[in-house]
Amino acid sequence: MIYLDNAATTKVSDAAANKAFEIMTKTFGNPSSVHDFGYESEKVLKSARKAILSHLGSIRRDDELVFTSGGTEANNLAVFGALAAKKHGGKTVFFSDSEHASVYNISKKLEKDGYNVKYIATKGGKIDFDYCEKEFSKDTVLISCMYANNETGTIYDIKKLDTLRKKLCPQAVLHTDAVQAFGKTKENLCSCGADLISVSGHKIHAPKGIGALYIKSGVRILPILIGGGQEKDIRPGTEALPSIAAFEVAANEVFNLKNILKVEKLNSYLTEKLEAQLPQIKINKPENSLPYVVSLSLPAIKSEVMLRFLSAKGIYISAGSACTSKHRENRVLSAFGLDSKSADCTIRVSFCEDNTFEEIDTFLKELENGINSLISLK
Ligand code: PLP
Repeated sequence: MIYLDNAATTKVSDAAANKAFEIMTKTFGNPSSVHDFGYESEKVLKSARKAILSHLGSIRRDDELVFTSGGTEANNLAVFGALAAKKHGGKTVFFSDSEHASVYNISKKLEKDGYNVKYIATKGGKIDFDYCEKEFSKDTVLISCMYANNETGTIYDIKKLDTLRKKLCPQAVLHTDAVQAFGKTKENLCSCGADLISVSGHKIHAPKGIGALYIKSGVRILPILIGGGQEKDIRPGTEALPSIAAFEVAANEVFNLKNILKVEKLNSYLTEKLEAQLPQIKINKPENSLPYVVSLSLPAIKSEVMLRFLSAKGIYISAGSACTSKHRENRVLSAFGLDSKSADCTIRVSFCEDNTFEEIDTFLKELENGINSLISLK
């Protein structure tokens, strides 16, 4: 098998899986229990919180983070939680037009709930700052723009967005969905200035169903679930300690510059070979992007057709976001600037540090075979 769909999810690392097993079978106490065994679990929780915060680049490393069931919940908690805390604030909220479904569908719900929802264009991977400059106002209560895009790998300029926010609407909360960026960029995520940052474990070799929301100190969030007082009264429910501990282990492994450098090499290897061998393929490469994601528009072959061809050879890639693949629409690729025909023919290759140059060679060979045989079928 050649797995090049790491933006959809990753294999759990051995060390992370072992850690989860160890916690499930040995340190299985409830971190809220008031006895020594519960205290042992609380130590595990504290250690994970500190580690994730330090990888995010937070200076205060004890609080500022709540664990969630993943990136989707972190995004929901960020937006709904921040708006609930600012009930008497403005009614205008901004989202980029490239958001993942777990933010985009929130924006649609807010429209129905009576918010004045506005979308910031991100054509070619660039935030339309002129629009922001014109539209940000005293009524702006929240701005949400992802850090890195799951379909194109684009990295957006959140720092500049924060500068504008501070100048034009300092009362507004700034959220960034950094699910695809966490562990995959050399930048310190906290330094982008966002108040709220969503991350997820399964994109970095932790189990599925674990994530976290960074909440800058002083920023108020109300819970969106009703229950006990866990996670500083912000996210009730007994903490998923095995997954949380595994998240720490996976993050400690992934946060290593060597990994990014390796993936940069894989990315250059693939794109240089594509340019030389298959110039009919268009590489959708924005100016600033993650090396982990490569978006390719094929010459008049629908992405699903190519996906099935490659899958039959044991090569796994995707057409875009796995979360929307069952009812595919090209919202994000259109926002990037692709016409609908190109968007229909666009595939996503996504790496992790375990991929090899040999795997890329095989992928390229089969991609070429696919193009030749599928075009001749037309
Ligand atoms: N945000 C982005 C950018 C994503 O790529 C994903 C997952 O694909 C999510 C959020 C959702 O994360 P999770 O699968 O942990 O709910």
